[in-house]
Amino acid sequence: MSTVLVTGGAGFIGSHTSVELLNAGYDIIILDNFVNSKPESLKRIKELTGKDFKFYQADIRDEEAMTKVFAENKIDAVIHFAGLKSVPQSVKEPLNYYDNNIAGTVCLCRVMDKAGCKKLVFSSSAGGTTNPYGTTKYFIEQILQDLCVSDSEWGVSILRYFNPIGAHKSGRIGEDPNGIPGNLMPYITQVAIGKLECLNVCGNDYPTPDGTGVRDYIHVVDLALGHIKALDRLLKVKGCEVYNLGTGKGYSVLDVVKAFEKASGIKINYRIAPRRAGDVACCYADATKAKEVLGWQAQYDIDDMCADSWRWQSQNPNGLE
Ligand code: NAD
Repeated sequence: MSTVLVTGGAGFIGSHTSVELLNAGYDIIILDNFVNSKPESLKRIKELTGKDFKFYQADIRDEEAMTKVFAENKIDAVIHFAGLKSVPQSVKEPLNYYDNNIAGTVCLCRVMDKAGCKKLVFSSSAGGTTNPYGTTKYFIEQILQDLCVSDSEWGVSILRYFNPIGAHKSGRIGEDPNGIPGNLMPYITQVAIGKLECLNVCGNDYPTPDGTGVRDYIHVVDLALGHIKALDRLLKVKGCEVYNLGTGKGYSVLDVVKAFEKASGIKINYRIAPRRAGDVACCYADATKAKEVLGWQAQYDIDDMCADSWRWQSQNPNGLE
């Protein structure tokens, strides 16, 4: 069976994908620097799967450390989640975002190239770019395409995710951001648990049915399974391919609040706040290609996503501490 290096594997999407990789019979190695995650998530991945794996605490920008990982292991492919992901933080700290995400990915690819490991699944983001975070994803996509043009041995699968929420059905792993959450669902669940007072709905004057931003929310386990499909294909083909992973359905911020209230039985305190820099009105997926080529389709709906997010948060009020 193939061995997969999962960068950022202690994080939200990485931990769920690691569980599905282990369940599918892949051997994995996780690498993370814990800038936005905790070691406890690694224990929980082992607990959920009953399987063990190697872990490296390292930064993807550290060429020496990355070289050592590839020297010590025979790695067939990399699923690359490691990156900073907050839109508002990226507007304030563009240099940190360009350095971590772009320089980090260039370093990773350089080390992979030298080690002869030329299969990469990359976590990209939906839509065009309206902020430094999105721009890092856009630039990295270009870099990966150039890399595939330069050397036909490379195979890259670029996965453009829409908005992953939900959690593993067990309630043992889920989204546990350090600090105030930059994403909607962890914000809602922290209001529900009483950690945060009130949800700021940023903008109610967008050209959408209720004026709040519309997004395509996808269950994180569906997303994780999409990575397995992409990896299975990547191990057989070369060149660069791009897929959208979403449900194709859009929900507004207030739709999500209502669905969460229904799933949890808890009223969410919210107020209307100004628009956030870098946000767009509406964004949802056309995931036809993923269905046709990868044979992947999202299974879970918004009610499952809310119920699973709530199970995770209510069972772990302080996250993974
Ligand atoms: P996350 O913050 O939970 O996970 C990212 C992980 O990468 C964390 O464990 C963090 O500690 C690690 N990391 C960051 N920089 C690193 C570095 N330089 N070296 C080593 N490890 C590093 O985020 P997530 O939601 O799981 O997202 C995973 C990937 O998917 C990210 O690249 C993100 O940009 C992308 N993505 C996320 C979303 C979303 O809404 N969650 C949407 C589209 C794309």
